[in-house]
Amino acid sequence: MSWTIVGQDKVVDALAGAVKHGRLAHAYLFAGPAHVGKTMAALQFAQLLNCTGAEPPCGRCRSCERIAGGGHADVEIVSVGGLCKESQHDHAKDNSRDIRICQVRRLEDVVSRAPYEGKCRVIIIEPADAMNETTQNALLKTLEEPPDDVVLILVTDREELLLPTIRSRVRRIAFTGLPKDAIERALRTRWDVEPERAAQLARLSRGRLGWAVLALHDGRVLEQRQSALDAAQELASAPLNERFAFAGDLGGRYTRDRAAVQAVLEAWEEWWRDILLIAAGREKQAVHRERLDSLRPLAAQCDVPAAVRALRANGDARRQLVDNASPALALEVMMLALPELRANPVSARLAGR
Ligand SMILES: [Zn+2]
Repeated sequence: MSWTIVGQDKVVDALAGAVKHGRLAHAYLFAGPAHVGKTMAALQFAQLLNCTGAEPPCGRCRSCERIAGGGHADVEIVSVGGLCKESQHDHAKDNSRDIRICQVRRLEDVVSRAPYEGKCRVIIIEPADAMNETTQNALLKTLEEPPDDVVLILVTDREELLLPTIRSRVRRIAFTGLPKDAIERALRTRWDVEPERAAQLARLSRGRLGWAVLALHDGRVLEQRQSALDAAQELASAPLNERFAFAGDLGGRYTRDRAAVQAVLEAWEEWWRDILLIAAGREKQAVHRERLDSLRPLAAQCDVPAAVRALRANGDARRQLVDNASPALALEVMMLALPELRANPVSARLAGR
């Protein structure tokens, strides 16, 4: 069976090659967009390092199976919420949004012990950007002097949040989004998705197979996206006071659920990209084909530079949120840059007669 990860051939070559030629690093950074297979690759790498089958990672030996099932004693995922060094207290219960410094200090003990059942201890920190600066500094100690039979893997889609001292001590493995065709093919052959739905999900996934699979199994993912697109459409013709009210609400939500707000902004960006494509006469490339009827009249009122400005403002807002700017302020600035379009130009024209 070997590697099952889809569309990351370069990654697989780099990792398998390092093992084959005895050039294993002590620590890796798996960096790239969300939902493209980074954590999956980390687990398969752990299987490769511990496999006892003929063709590692075989996926069938006891070691491979235990790693896939999360029950291998030497392979551990350190995530938000987890065991604390001092008290064995489980931070999963206290709504933590960060990986705690105690979780990272605990690793100093863990890596000092020889592997218990396998050949190599693998610690996956995911998402690594959930460590604040102090916690990252605490991790340096483990990164500086790891024993030979330990591999640390830091997984992140926001590597800019990692300290330079961390980044200089890890080998970077770059993950990229997948081509639309590869996602469509994978959905059809591996998940048995009917062609039309596979094509739709592939289009909406923006290169992220994991997102497409998530949307396939959880109807809310698409639902939330649709409501974000509805909001984008409404805001395009809303007066500034309504836009600011929306920015305030969304900004307030950001402190509770960053991922949800980022997903809303991603959907908005996609919506404005469609407006830009249609305005530029490239409607065929538009992603939201089921919305063309509502997109066309709006795009017709929007010139290309205005659509570009909207798109850029959207991307700026997303980056500023990541940088911990005031969420409401960042969103208000974005709202100011959106052109104000007329909701229904046809009926507006008729009314004016
Ligand atoms: Zn195996």
